[in-house]
Amino acid sequence: MADSDLAHPLSPHTRLVTAGRPAAEPDAPLNEPVMFASTYHAGGERGYGRYGNPTWEAFEQVLGDLEGGTALTFSSGMAATSAVLSLLPEGAVVVAPETAYLGVLDQLRERRDAGRIQLRHVDITDPTEIKDAVQEAAMLWLESPANPKLEVADVASASAAARDAGAITVVDNTFATPLLQRPLALGADIVVHSATKLISGHSDVVLGATVTTNDDTRGRLERYRRLHGAIPSPMDTFLALRGLRTLGVRLDRAQANAATLVERLGAHPAVTTVRYPGSGTICSIEVAGGAEGADRVVGSVRLWVNTTSLGGVESTLERRRRWPSESETVDVSLIRLSVGIEDVDDLWADLAQALDTAAAP
Ligand SMILES: *Cc1c(COP(=O)(O)O)cnc(C)c1O
Repeated sequence: MADSDLAHPLSPHTRLVTAGRPAAEPDAPLNEPVMFASTYHAGGERGYGRYGNPTWEAFEQVLGDLEGGTALTFSSGMAATSAVLSLLPEGAVVVAPETAYLGVLDQLRERRDAGRIQLRHVDITDPTEIKDAVQEAAMLWLESPANPKLEVADVASASAAARDAGAITVVDNTFATPLLQRPLALGADIVVHSATKLISGHSDVVLGATVTTNDDTRGRLERYRRLHGAIPSPMDTFLALRGLRTLGVRLDRAQANAATLVERLGAHPAVTTVRYPGSGTICSIEVAGGAEGADRVVGSVRLWVNTTSLGGVESTLERRRRWPSESETVDVSLIRLSVGIEDVDDLWADLAQALDTAAAP
């Protein structure tokens, strides 16, 4: 059913269930089935499996609808990132966060070290710093909330400053999801997702996406996907859409759990700092005893899983500075927690017993 059939616009919580379905005809499936095809009969638009796939398109319709633009799916969040960075002309100035997803920062630094771009790092919470940095820039890259310290940018003012300076704004919306933040409506030009995380939500898929309202940009990103083969598997896209259908309820539950845990964490004597942007499912803590204290916590959990990824139905955690390239501005004891949908008292009991070991000598 199209929105226009109804007297009032449908809520995103409804649209993520209803969008991207095949036409409602007798015996048609309710949802788009997974289409395994490398080759199509000639004469249509798809032609070949690297150019198009109906399972991709169903996922793209739902994500595009939620973000308010046209979505393209890629083989991973990093493939989507590569596609977006391929838009940069040689020598372009890129403004990027000091701390953010490491793969993105590493890719930017690689391009800088190869002499292909100039890189300016900013504190994304400081609008004045952003405004100064975007002068003569081609692209402002934001991640908000940002990995792993969960800084939040004012996307509206930052993208307005970028636009005034002639730069485009890209927002990695992985942590917020379109249910909590719609960057295109705030003035951003491109949204990037690691659909590996909350969008698919079950820790079984690696997938990425871009969303934009600009047809020319969309065309260039799609061309990149074709020419560089950055295409997802139909099965992964199917699983991601299946997961996306329940994003609303997963997010509600995990967010409520996160809010409760943040409050309890703040009162635990072994926790020195709690970082939580006020919404979402990710929070970070710093604990007593430095890196060793944090390693004891991570090594003592039984229900929580020590793992680097996030955004699944399972609660996971990791000490970020175990990665050598993590920013030195991230405290050695910082543990990032991705809160899942388990019972909150079970989650707390496990964390509390693990935290008790942190302060222990
Ligand atoms: C995981 C992640 C990425 C990279 O996505 P992949 O799907 O792992 O390639 C980019 N940005 C953020 C914020 C992420 O969490």
